Amino acid sequence: MLRFPVRATCMAFRKSRMALPRDEPTSARRAGPKMRRPTKRMMTSSDTPIPPRPMLPSPPAPGRYAYKQACRFVFGFLVLLLVAGGLKAAWASSGSAHLAGFLPAVEATILDGLRREELDRGVVRIAADTNGFLTVAAVTVALSGAPSLSKLETYVGRLVRTAFRAVPFLDEVDVTVLGRHPVSLADLEDVIFTAAASRSEVLSAPVNLPPADLVRELRRVWAHPLLERPTERLREASRAQLGFGEGSPALLHTALGTLRDLSDRLRGHLLGQVVSSKLYRASRGRRAVALTFDDGPLPLYTPLLLDTLGRLGLRATFFLIGRRVEQYPYFAAALVQSGHELGNHSYSHRNLTGLSFDVVHEDLRRAQEAIFYATGHMPRLFRPPGGRYDPTVVNAATALGMLTVLWTDNPGDFQGLPPQRLKTRLLSRIYSGGIILLHQGMPQTLRILPEVSQVLHRLGYTVTTVTGLLHPTDVRARWPSHPPSR
Ligand SMILES: [Zn+2]
Repeated sequence: MLRFPVRATCMAFRKSRMALPRDEPTSARRAGPKMRRPTKRMMTSSDTPIPPRPMLPSPPAPGRYAYKQACRFVFGFLVLLLVAGGLKAAWASSGSAHLAGFLPAVEATILDGLRREELDRGVVRIAADTNGFLTVAAVTVALSGAPSLSKLETYVGRLVRTAFRAVPFLDEVDVTVLGRHPVSLADLEDVIFTAAASRSEVLSAPVNLPPADLVRELRRVWAHPLLERPTERLREASRAQLGFGEGSPALLHTALGTLRDLSDRLRGHLLGQVVSSKLYRASRGRRAVALTFDDGPLPLYTPLLLDTLGRLGLRATFFLIGRRVEQYPYFAAALVQSGHELGNHSYSHRNLTGLSFDVVHEDLRRAQEAIFYATGHMPRLFRPPGGRYDPTVVNAATALGMLTVLWTDNPGDFQGLPPQRLKTRLLSRIYSGGIILLHQGMPQTLRILPEVSQVLHRLGYTVTTVTGLLHPTDVRARWPSHPPSR
């Protein structure tokens, strides 16, 4: 809705620029290519009249030139005004919300519904998608000020009811509320409230149930703990100042680290076994591959992915970001309940190379804590953010009882490739003991999974988790007291 008018206005702007008079030629050489050069025949033939030589434009008088420049400036200014007006109108017509998903009609219908109920203020993004069975919409709201928890619940309850009323075939609405950070008390945008409501939950509630109570009865709700205890804010704020130190520029560290573990990498890929607490590829002896998804949990795509994998009968390993697990604990719990394996993908998802052992250890420990708190499972696998690691990062993961897991097949689903190309890239690097790297939150990934699963099945591959690739005796030897539960 927003894109078309902007593009059209830009085209109009470009056309108008093309229509502007060009700079006057300052010499005959510049004007030359525009003239038709007399050919040999023209010069020798007596019966063919020689075309008149085009007149060179005379150099403009200084006053006329200034007048033209002024006209150009005014014209350009008017065009800019038009573009700005068009953008403003487009922005206003979309209620300042960015319709970002694969189902623009659904997204626009929800936005219209919210506008009618005067709930659209603060809605910054609506995205909807489907896997053919489940249709989910994710609404992101940015609130100014520091709303109370009960006000938030009332707002979210009304929003959810409106969305389901607007789109009768919508199965789930995921709401994320951004607001003033309750710890720092600064105007930092942070997630302060999330909820996931299914149509059945909302329909089964009495119609006259107050919206706040409706939200309180949802199974999947998270509120920032300090929203409920505002008196603790100042104490927490002083603790938050401690924070983490910033990492040094990572490029050099990454390069040195890559050189250092080059032999590990080669041995790991060739032998298909754990080398220096790192797993690049599992045993070649079994025709099996592991499916891994990084960067979740996320609204919209975690439930869709979960539903798709369930329908395909596939189990995978999900490397989760601790911070996101805190904000969407119910999605992390749903992954475990559906039989998937969880791994640690750090708490902050920043580049951990070049940091001290204590800082890396604390980051990974916080993620462990968040995942354990949400799911009751302590991950035994770790994947460094961006695949960047150095010996300190691997040592910190090992100290927390985790095996560092890399991959053999990275089709680059984060690059937004067309599904067909993504699928071809993924399938071109399949071999026994391979580990496939994919990401949550990627619409194309969701779309290729059924066909990828079919092809792998036809080729005789078992699709499993990372731990599923390891030999049971290796698993017991590595984690004798607490082997991974999945
Ligand atoms: Zn990542």
